Amino acid sequence: MIKERKRGNLYVISGPSGCGKNSIIQELLKRQSNLWLSISCTSREKRLNEVNGKDYYFLSKDEFERKIKNNEFLEYALYADNYYGTPKEIIEKHLDAGEDVILEIEIMGALKIKKILPETLFIFILPPSMKELRKRLEGRGSESKSTIDKRFRKAYEEINSINDYNYVVVNDEISNAVEKICAILISEKCRVDRIESLDIDNVEEEIHETLINKN
Ligand code: 5GP
Repeated sequence: MIKERKRGNLYVISGPSGCGKNSIIQELLKRQSNLWLSISCTSREKRLNEVNGKDYYFLSKDEFERKIKNNEFLEYALYADNYYGTPKEIIEKHLDAGEDVILEIEIMGALKIKKILPETLFIFILPPSMKELRKRLEGRGSESKSTIDKRFRKAYEEINSINDYNYVVVNDEISNAVEKICAILISEKCRVDRIESLDIDNVEEEIHETLINKN
């Protein structure tokens, strides 16, 4: 009766640095088999625990700018003095193959996506408090105090953009946050404007046949 749309959904997840986006997304990927996480390119330094091609594609500033010129990004932004960008071609491939795609990107990039792909769903992750956010940023132990300060200050600007998002999820506990996002993703799949077609003629036929068989 219902023909589901073959093309996957695109989800953008944003939130201030240190709010736990990455841990939430890793847990989501374990739970939802049809979900693919886009790997971004960045010109920032690789952190100790990060792997090229898994966490990011780490590029030099020149390499990144060459890709901008070649129009290889769906969107890109400068964040804390470094470039970050979403590779375009691979996203289209996954969406066309019917997979749902997650972009974990900051707000400027999210706003660009909203303009070019308005059917995208936007989810914002909040820390339970600013004190807790600071604690988490410091707890990573991977950045200098000035970088931490910069990211912490940026959080205000980011949280101010929350009205551009469709959903907000507080990350008090990873499992709670994941549960809420799973519920959001499931309800998105049930939205009437996300289905390809509803075969009303078929419904009429079925009603008719059922009535004939009953009489
Ligand atoms: P981090 O340096 O902590 O890994 O990321 C810094 C910020 O850049 C985070 O808010 C993250 O979501 C964002 N980011 C990561 N990849 C992309 C991307 O491809 N595009 C944009 N616009 N932001 C990104």
